[in-house]
Amino acid sequence: MAICPECEANIEVDDDVDEGQTFDCPECGAELEVVSTNPLELDAVPPNEDEEDEGYA
Ligand SMILES: [Zn+2]
Repeated sequence: MAICPECEANIEVDDDVDEGQTFDCPECGAELEVVSTNPLELDAVPPNEDEEDEGYA
């Protein structure tokens, strides 16, 4: 169980999640990243589809 940093909902998370794993909050839909597994901590991932920001389309 973890707390969504966006809406503070209690989220059920698998015990075997890995750091860096991301998933969507079932309550608010925010993308969350596992930043720590012990204790389990989540951080919101800003919406950004592109890793590389260089260059213009
Ligand atoms: Zn949420």
